[in-house]
Amino acid sequence: MRLPLLALAAATALTLPQAAFAQQDVPVTRPGKEALDILKQIVAIPSVMGHGNVPKVAEVLRQRLIAGGFASEDVVFTPVGETGYLTARYRGRDPKLKPVVINPHMDVVAADAKDWERDPFTPVIENGYIYGRGSADDKGDLSMVVAALIDLKRQGWVPSRDVILGASGDEETLMRSTAALAESLKNAELVLNADGGGGELANDFTPIVYSVQAGEKTYADLKLSITDPGGHSSRPGSLNAIGAMARALAKVDAYKFPPQISPLTKAYWEGTAPHAPEEVAQAMRAYAADPKNLGAIETLSSRPEYVGLVRTTCVPTMVNGGHAANALPQSVTANINCRIFPGTTRMQARDIIAGVIDDPHITVELADDGSIEAPESPLRDDVMKAIGVAVHQRIPGLAVVPSMSAGASDSMYFRALGIPAYGVAATFMRPDDDFSHGLNERLPLATIDPGVKQWETVLKTLLK
Ligand SMILES: [Zn+2]
Repeated sequence: MRLPLLALAAATALTLPQAAFAQQDVPVTRPGKEALDILKQIVAIPSVMGHGNVPKVAEVLRQRLIAGGFASEDVVFTPVGETGYLTARYRGRDPKLKPVVINPHMDVVAADAKDWERDPFTPVIENGYIYGRGSADDKGDLSMVVAALIDLKRQGWVPSRDVILGASGDEETLMRSTAALAESLKNAELVLNADGGGGELANDFTPIVYSVQAGEKTYADLKLSITDPGGHSSRPGSLNAIGAMARALAKVDAYKFPPQISPLTKAYWEGTAPHAPEEVAQAMRAYAADPKNLGAIETLSSRPEYVGLVRTTCVPTMVNGGHAANALPQSVTANINCRIFPGTTRMQARDIIAGVIDDPHITVELADDGSIEAPESPLRDDVMKAIGVAVHQRIPGLAVVPSMSAGASDSMYFRALGIPAYGVAATFMRPDDDFSHGLNERLPLATIDPGVKQWETVLKTLLK
């Protein structure tokens, strides 16, 4: 899942180079060319849930890695139902040290060809982009990572400890391969997630910020229901199921969870303030300094791009009830969607909402949607330094800011096992280019060659 970075589009423009990001050249030399070749090959495989195609993507990558110098016994595909995960071990100097995992995903969101301008599963290079489902999410970074690992082998580089490519096969849906992958790698030192964080460009191609995703909110759906014997609408009783549900939903709509701040969001507010418009910047600084500052809370909560970072949110998203225009309703159901700040459990959020509704006629149940709770990852100096070196080699002076996303990536399965995980994708994009999960998904060609180099530099700096 590639989530839009927290918008800084209105940020003060930095005096940074635009030309490099506006170029339309197809990479012609290693390792960018290899990344593009891999990307074209795997975009053509529709690795959508239910089609059994993820093993075919894995096989393409397996053959590339073995041709690139990996021992065949070190590159293994493990089936999980119709999908599965691929691991490739890049051996380091000290096999006793815990490995570093790089985690992209091989599956893609479904795409209906009749709605697309170009066939979603035919890679098309046009106007400086490669088009196709998965070109950005997440086959772009997946291809860059594989090309980087092959290029590092070719250079003869040996990391201080093992690096394991661990590519999952159902990140966009059930995450069963992710759960199995995380379990198989639970001795890992840390995870670099290739489907989170990344660089944001303004629509004029000016680089704005690079974000490192170090935490995500927990997803939860609450199912509300009320039933009543009903009857003829000319004889209303004391309870009307629609009326009761309406009052419950109005209470949930009006309720605000208490504002929260964590080490991660504090670092985000402080790191983002220098690049934000003045009135927001002031609120960010004030909130980071004093999370009880009501003015700052109000300013940040009034902006859709920031409200999710201030507090847990639970909002009504669906309602269904009644069966005839002239009958008392017998059943009404509703859905409340929650994005929960790390540190609060899904059940605690349910209990809070049930308390807010405070009506014994209405049941509030936590839906079993496969989501799990995970803590945020500490901002490790070695990781932040390696990312800083790699990003600044690409764009000197660019702000590198930690971030929390609205959920839910593969990282939550690793974090839940106590393994810190960091979203450090090497893709730089404009908001105008981001069609992940949508129609006409595309990846700017200009991000490929420097993206491969960014991955190489991150690894060489972190594991020298
Ligand atoms: Zn994704």
